[in-house]
Amino acid sequence: MNLETFKFDIDADGIAHAIFDVPGRSMNTLTGKAVADIIAITREVATNDAIKGLVLSSGKASGFCAGADLGEMGDRAGGAEKTKKSVDELKKEQFDAGFSLNGTLRKLETCGKPVAVALNGLALGGGLEVALACHYRVAANDNPKLQFGLPEAKIGLLPGAGGTQRLPRLVGVQAALPLILQGESFSAEQAKSMGVVNELAPSSETVARAKAWVKANPKAKAPWDEKGYKVPGGVPHKSPGVGQVATMANMMLASKTYGNFPAQKNILSCIYEGIQVPIDAGLRIETRYFINTQQRPEAKAMIRSLFLSTQALSKGANRPAGYPQTEFKKVAVIGAGLMGAGIAYVQAKAGIPTVLVDVTQEAADKGKQYSVRLVEKDVSRGKLSKEKGDALLALITPTTDYNAVKGADLVVEAVFEDEGLKAKITQAAEAVLGDDAVYGTNTSTLPITGLAKASKRPANFIGIHFFSPVERMGLVEIINGKETSEATLAKAVDYVLAIRKTPIVVNDSRGFYTSRCFGTYTQEGLEMLSEGIKPAIIENVGRQAGMPMGALEVTDSVGLDTALKVGRATAKATGFDYNEAPLGKMMAWIVEDKGRVGRKAGKGFYDYNEQGKRDRLWPGLNDQIEVKIDECPPALKKELTNRILVRQAVEVARCFEEGVITDARDADIGSILAWGFAPFTGGCCSYVDLIWGIREFVAEADRLADKYGDRFRPNKLLRDMAARGEGFYDRFPPAGTKAKVAA
Ligand code: NAD
Repeated sequence: MNLETFKFDIDADGIAHAIFDVPGRSMNTLTGKAVADIIAITREVATNDAIKGLVLSSGKASGFCAGADLGEMGDRAGGAEKTKKSVDELKKEQFDAGFSLNGTLRKLETCGKPVAVALNGLALGGGLEVALACHYRVAANDNPKLQFGLPEAKIGLLPGAGGTQRLPRLVGVQAALPLILQGESFSAEQAKSMGVVNELAPSSETVARAKAWVKANPKAKAPWDEKGYKVPGGVPHKSPGVGQVATMANMMLASKTYGNFPAQKNILSCIYEGIQVPIDAGLRIETRYFINTQQRPEAKAMIRSLFLSTQALSKGANRPAGYPQTEFKKVAVIGAGLMGAGIAYVQAKAGIPTVLVDVTQEAADKGKQYSVRLVEKDVSRGKLSKEKGDALLALITPTTDYNAVKGADLVVEAVFEDEGLKAKITQAAEAVLGDDAVYGTNTSTLPITGLAKASKRPANFIGIHFFSPVERMGLVEIINGKETSEATLAKAVDYVLAIRKTPIVVNDSRGFYTSRCFGTYTQEGLEMLSEGIKPAIIENVGRQAGMPMGALEVTDSVGLDTALKVGRATAKATGFDYNEAPLGKMMAWIVEDKGRVGRKAGKGFYDYNEQGKRDRLWPGLNDQIEVKIDECPPALKKELTNRILVRQAVEVARCFEEGVITDARDADIGSILAWGFAPFTGGCCSYVDLIWGIREFVAEADRLADKYGDRFRPNKLLRDMAARGEGFYDRFPPAGTKAKVAA
């Protein structure tokens, strides 16, 4: 056999040993080559009489296999190329391709010889599916990084190599459903207690134990191939209990995903239909659902954004090349309020010595207390040892003394949103900082170029925009000012990666990229309100469109006073008479006449209870708005959904045209991680490119603009892209380094 990704030998007892070891990679994935090798190994084991059994293991210390090669799969996902083949020919071709690994694993399972696998580390997705097709699984009990799971659903896919059929047959439908629908991983011990693995052993012994089992069990069969096999717990159509679980799962899925995620829907159908028939038929059902899922644009969008782009950005894909990597020996955070306290915590958690400065020692100490509370919570839940918690806290020095800032590689300023105050802080910090130190401001609205005017070294000045709560939000928006140097940008990217967050890089503009585009969601919700659409409809449609909250609830969270302030400021800058517009009048009424400023006051569009939890939409809203639309038939739902999502995407296109953002990956990941743009679309750009198609999107935006106003009108860039048939990923492909600041 000529294998590229496996080493293969046969010992004196006739036990074949196939070691999975993809050359040049630190982790095995199921590339096309690896699948071809598994097919060849299966054929050899089944046909070579000298072989009495097979042991699979990994040549990588990191584990057995991380699953399908998503780079290859991403290219195939999202629909077939144009071809002259007939529909039947095409369907057969697709089925054969989709079934190749699935069918091969079934052949291995039924080849009449025992097959065992030694799992020294992680086995995810296709990796776990290969293991499930073996008759016996031995897992390492001494590798804390080991994890098992079928995470396909998280990126819009369905396990297509037998996972949806073997896992429920092994552990029961009830236990398997959440594992496959939610894709969460589990440990070796959990796998053993569920029966997913048969034996635990030290890593160094797993292969020997697997071999010993193969030798001792020459006639091995999968449980479902034994006479009298029954699915543990029963099957949905025969057992009322399991039937109820399946119905509940269906209902929960609908209420959580609103039917937006085709993968989850298909997984549920695939398990339900497949478990009622013999496994051979079940595997063919799985392949059909797998192909259907993979061809959906959502799958391509999710693989690209939620896996490939997120991974690329998390490895610094948008960092300018050629600058030495910075190791952060000290970072100062100035302003120990809500944001500064959170920033200090994530820095200390990443092992960075942190100086936390505020005007009074009391305020600085209070900032550190935030970390104390988070550490205590983790220690009490057993997530962190007391020693590690103490070491983390020892890294934070609260102070009022700027001398402590001396020697810092970076400053992150997080004082009140006041230009004059920020200028003073810049000067006070620069008086003690070294020449190479970078000064980052966490302003949420003030243009970086303007703030940099207070700096002696504007080339070292940059925006580092965190989101609240800092310890939970994975994104940081880095903003280049006009004079920010590439070296400064490289250092800022290094910092964001060091604190284990995902950076996107944008250029200066009012509201930068994220706040500006996110604002259009809340504004569209308020437009709907001022048109007389019943508030509950606005909220439901927002969530059903895939946004994490309704537009009114989000506005409450931001603060209605802030929304009013931003609305007036933006209107002033753009020459629009906000105060006379129905929207402006309504906002002034609720904030200034009624004193309802949002969640922080316990009253806004919603009433909140004492714990700050959303109670109900405020009935008094009806005094101000005349509800003209209080029912939402499907056509209206579609119209409102399009208004919500298209408006945001048009604003993203404006950001590209103005040079605020320059890479489609930054735009997509930013839209999902910063403001929760419908994740199943892959983000704002993928929504245009894949869910609509550029020409259809522009036509829809024009239609909405004719009906509701120029806020929907496609810009020149979109028209040009439509004329050429180019999507955002064609026009703004991944760049090695960022484009320079917009003029
Ligand atoms: P905050 O009011 O909670 O904290 C500000 C802190 O700055 C206070 O502790 C205050 O004592 C301190 N401060 C004031 N003058 C100071 C001085 N001269 N020296 C040192 N410290 C001083 O505010 P926040 O919500 O943490 O916001 C801080 C910055 O972060 C603002 O620019 C804000 O726009 C931005 N931001 C906020 C959010 C958010 O969700 N709150 C999100 C992103 C960015």
